[in-house]
Amino acid sequence: MNEMGWVMTHKERAERLIRQQYHCTQAVLGAFADEIGLDLKTALKIGSCFGGGMRRAETCGCLTGAVMTLGMALGYYDAQDKEREVYGIKKTEELVRRFSERMEGKLNCREILGYDLTKTEELAVIHEKNLMGKYCPGVLNATIEILEELLAEHLAGVPEEDETELDNMAGSDEMRTILRSQNRFRRFKRSVGELLLSSSKEIAFIQFDIRQFKVVNDLYGEKIGDEVLQYVREQLKAVCNDRQYFINLRSDVFMIVTEYDEESELVELIERLNARVSSYKNVKLQMTYGIYTVEDREMELRQMEDRAAMARKAAKQNAVSRILFYKEQFKESLYNRKFIEENMQAAITERQFMMYLQPKYSIAKNEIIGAEALVRWRHPERGMIFPDQFIPVIEDNGFIREVDYYIWGEACNFIKMCRQKGITFCPISVNVSRVHLRDDECIKVLSDLISGAAIPREMLELEITESVDDQEVSRKAYQLKDEGYTLLMDDFGSGYSSLNILLETPFDVIKLDKRFMESMMVSGKGKMILEQVVAMANKLGLGLLAEGVETREQVDLLQRIGCDQVQGYYYAKPMPKEEFFELLCAQAEASKGGGAVTAAEL
Ligand code: C2E
Ligand code: CA
Ligand code: CA
Repeated sequence: MNEMGWVMTHKERAERLIRQQYHCTQAVLGAFADEIGLDLKTALKIGSCFGGGMRRAETCGCLTGAVMTLGMALGYYDAQDKEREVYGIKKTEELVRRFSERMEGKLNCREILGYDLTKTEELAVIHEKNLMGKYCPGVLNATIEILEELLAEHLAGVPEEDETELDNMAGSDEMRTILRSQNRFRRFKRSVGELLLSSSKEIAFIQFDIRQFKVVNDLYGEKIGDEVLQYVREQLKAVCNDRQYFINLRSDVFMIVTEYDEESELVELIERLNARVSSYKNVKLQMTYGIYTVEDREMELRQMEDRAAMARKAAKQNAVSRILFYKEQFKESLYNRKFIEENMQAAITERQFMMYLQPKYSIAKNEIIGAEALVRWRHPERGMIFPDQFIPVIEDNGFIREVDYYIWGEACNFIKMCRQKGITFCPISVNVSRVHLRDDECIKVLSDLISGAAIPREMLELEITESVDDQEVSRKAYQLKDEGYTLLMDDFGSGYSSLNILLETPFDVIKLDKRFMESMMVSGKGKMILEQVVAMANKLGLGLLAEGVETREQVDLLQRIGCDQVQGYYYAKPMPKEEFFELLCAQAEASKGGGAVTAAEL
């Protein structure tokens, strides 16, 4: 999808693309993609075809991109349309002339850089002296300026408000469409600018898009897709008054800029619109809305639009609300997401993911009875990254499979090593993301890992977050139970689970969430519920383990009500496997008086 804002200048768009490692032809085409009626992806693809030509250094890539842009904007497709053909050729010649003038007659990379890109030795010099960094940005800027001049000259004389003028102009339908949309953009921008300057009320940017619009297109065809968009535009026209400006930014992304007094007015406006656009013919439509309320009117329009876009994207991730207001954190979380996506593959291959182990204790025996495997990501520059920061992202994109398989493998190896040293009392539990519960792949992977390490199945325990009436999780849990695994119900009492779940469940152990622990300490009611859960679990023969135990007080209370197994900072924090192994060895030694092994043997 086109991530770029309409309010970015062409230069800014091009620079951004260059920063993202696209080459110059792509940067030029991409910068003008909106105006020439291409989505960014298509523009980049077309631009990429000229990589070969450029590498041979016959024509400057910027100039190549500019010629193509001009062709899209002013070219002809009807062989009989001689008038347009002549006009297009004239403009292209004009482009090359102006370019040559700005570049002092240099038209290809060799002349511009002073060295030949196609020769290995000369290419090395180009890199060494950073000649591309030195010359190419200037060429790119000049190209964009020339293109802007040419397009502006071409447009001159078309009154902005009067689109019918456009219809009377000679030229192709495509060109008229492009000109019309350009016109609309400019008018919108101007209106918003005026509103920001003159309004004494608050101002908000509301951006929205259609959830899974691609699916609508695929399922019903592009014609219906176009009709849907047209329909949305009409509904916008109907709900917006003449001081509420709206625009179809690109494909299925729309934006409204409006004044308001109370934030509730914004939500009302959205609800009113939403009621009208919830379906078109038989197609059900779901929108997600992001709102940015303007604080600093001096801020660039592009930034305001960016923020509304961030809120819209965050709304998409949000299961509860389809309307979200911009918050400062969004920016960070988007950067974070991008960072993770760009770095996760390397993290696997470079073994930056590590298994930490947090001991589980028996209060009565004051001994380790097992451990939970928790992933840590040690990034060479960022340092330690905790699971809460990256697990949600990699659950979204499916990469959690790689990470979990790796941790499961590590856990199996650890168990194997313990057994080799005679330590057999310490099962390790691993977390099983919900993502695995959608298919059977995890069953095979687990089996393979266990037989590969030649360890008993009951030594590897599985932690699954159970929630009420989730058929999928239930089914998979029964399946894993049938396979012979010990199942731990993670995060019990964190909000979704209920007591009923205990009555019929394939789980062997219930892990009480730390929030349970907190509420138990602060309210009598919380304590009573906990007592009931413990009593019920004991009666049903279910194992019980309290998580997040941080204080002596909690330990005492748990012991009093009959919960013996605990995991939490009070006893130990998660630690590297070497450190945990030392703990185990010490315990084994203390109980047996022998079997000393050191972490160095790991
Ligand atoms: P979880 O499964 O509920 O794991 C327990 C979390 O509580 C761990 O956070 C642990 O470090 C933390 N914790 C333990 N004792 C205490 C305590 O006394 N007080 C407090 N405040 N916290 C305590 P961590 O390691 O940051 O992991 C967070 C979550 O990320 C885990 O919650 C789990 O849902 C997920 N996760 C961690 N490792 C993996 C993994 O390898 N695979 C998958 N799928 N999820 C993982
Ligand atoms: Ca867990
Ligand atoms: Ca938990």
